Amino acid sequence: MARIFAVANQKGGVGKTTTTVNLAAALAAHGQRVLLVDLDPQGNATMGSGVDKRAVPSTVYQVLVGLKTLQESRARSEQGGYDVLAANRDLAGAEVELVTLDNRERRLKDALATVETEYDFVLIDCPPSLSMLTLNGLCCAHGVIIPMQCEYYALEGLSDLVNTIKQVHAKMNRELKIIGLLRVMFDTRSTLSQQVSAQLESHFGDKVFKAIIPRNVRLAEAPSHGLPGVVFDKAAKGSQAYLSFAAEMIERIKTI
Ligand code: ATP
Ligand code: MG
Repeated sequence: MARIFAVANQKGGVGKTTTTVNLAAALAAHGQRVLLVDLDPQGNATMGSGVDKRAVPSTVYQVLVGLKTLQESRARSEQGGYDVLAANRDLAGAEVELVTLDNRERRLKDALATVETEYDFVLIDCPPSLSMLTLNGLCCAHGVIIPMQCEYYALEGLSDLVNTIKQVHAKMNRELKIIGLLRVMFDTRSTLSQQVSAQLESHFGDKVFKAIIPRNVRLAEAPSHGLPGVVFDKAAKGSQAYLSFAAEMIERIKTI
């Protein structure tokens, strides 16, 4: 049965999409069956997986509003070795439409239930907000992966996210927990990064993943080739870090 993880942080540009795409490809490289769900109207995870967001016949939007099934909507990242439920600008309207539908926070959960035996991992790339879309992601997840940059303001935004996760846990999804905080775009030479990283470890203990993703230009270049970094340049330091992170995730799900 699939383990479902939402990659979330309401802060923009912190590495959610890079993490979702590379974790999907790295898990696939470790032999896992993976579905990536793009829940962001920007469609970056879709494009970064090599799926053309303008050319897909159907996306997560049609699934959420009940026009199509997930089975008929998913696409394939051939190079990445995983399936993709794509997103594009259509999804921007879903927020408003969902308000009028029943079961509005659980639409994605219901759709995923129909394919849960087909995957080992479902990874959901959330948009940079605590919106109805993110809520759909959190309502169906077993856990949240929080990517964060080790900088001064990172901890401030974290409390809002942690509170939202607590509320969803209390009211909508008893299974939800924070699986871990992932340090991304890490600059080993910066004293501030080291200090924030140490602070995170002392506050969150073993909720902080051992893997640390360095700032690495190959990860930033990969999307322009429509490839996950771990496929574009497997030997790059950033790719190797995501492969280690995937191995850590495979270990961690054995204990939850
Ligand atoms: P949004 O909130 O807009 O959805 P996001 O949290 O999904 O953003 P990304 O799109 O993954 O963040 O990353 C933001 C930018 O930082 C992108 O240009 C990406 O290529 C770059 N980036 C992400 N991770 C790394 C890294 N480890 N090294 C270098 N660049 C990175
Ligand atoms: Mg993103």
